[in-house]
Amino acid sequence: MRKKILDILRCIQCSASDWDLEILHENHEEVREGKLRCRSCHRICDISSGILNVLGDALPEEISLEKEHAESLGYLVTESGEKYLINQETIDRFRGLFLSLPAGNGSRFFKSGGSFSNQAGNAERFFKTLESLQLTGKERVLEVGASFGWGSWRFAQRGCEVIAVDITNYLLASNLYIEEDGSYFERVMADMNKLPFKNECCDLIFSHSAIHHCKNLERLFSEFYRLLRPGGRAVALHECAFGVFETKSGKALQHAIQEGFNENAYTLSEWKKGARRGGFEDVRLHFFSFIDDYVTRKRMKKSSLSLKLRLAQWIQSHPCIHDVVYWLTIPPRILFRPKAWMLIATKSQR
Ligand SMILES: [Zn+2]
Repeated sequence: MRKKILDILRCIQCSASDWDLEILHENHEEVREGKLRCRSCHRICDISSGILNVLGDALPEEISLEKEHAESLGYLVTESGEKYLINQETIDRFRGLFLSLPAGNGSRFFKSGGSFSNQAGNAERFFKTLESLQLTGKERVLEVGASFGWGSWRFAQRGCEVIAVDITNYLLASNLYIEEDGSYFERVMADMNKLPFKNECCDLIFSHSAIHHCKNLERLFSEFYRLLRPGGRAVALHECAFGVFETKSGKALQHAIQEGFNENAYTLSEWKKGARRGGFEDVRLHFFSFIDDYVTRKRMKKSSLSLKLRLAQWIQSHPCIHDVVYWLTIPPRILFRPKAWMLIATKSQR
């Protein structure tokens, strides 16, 4: 944590922004160990391994359960079935894997069924989204549900001032990225429903596969609205969404819920409604091309040139036909399974 973040921090208990900082250890980069005390309500937040923890003990039960489950889960599973919790030892041991996120290093961890298969499968869309945001490098970006921090690192590499927020200790991995090339970003353990920052302090709130864990979309988007400057954007990528006719009794979803994760199956119209009710005037959905996705996936797997792949590549090279196929896939995606989509909510300029 750098002292500069105190300019935008707000106490989650009393909303004051007046702090006493006790530094126990700092290096050339940041405060590594210490305590932050609110002068108004005396609430104390720890700083450990450079990460500011504002969670405290009074977390809503569903959030503390989710944190507990995520941290006690053997996230990394090796070929021989050995499971590793996310902690400093695991991060040091599998350093190369973490640094290669999201696309991966080609190892089995990133292939279907592997520990990082989700990240690898979504990598291309993440980078496409990063490009499409047309960042100037002057933005302050808040990434909610930042997990290991590889997304925040990519924003920081583009010059943005970035704060990675997560409820889990997965943020410990973020030190690897900062050490790798010096692209610094803040890491804050906080609940995305109650963020410890002042009003209108950031330009972009980004999340991938994270905010569907919230129980109340309207409340969450209204918190995002509070934090964004006029003209600021909230971008939600790879969120779980269900089709209008889709049942919510699927095995994967039920299994995740039983494990203790707050998996919520919102439909696309519930997503839009949540953002609008949260205050956003302009809410748009973007669907990624299935054809592009298919070709990328096959390329990543180094699959042989099958007839299907040849056809997909042919469609890709004919933009008019690609457009027609693209639009034809939208209604079934809304009705049955809205895969590969993104929500962009913009706060009006006033
Ligand atoms: Zn306070």
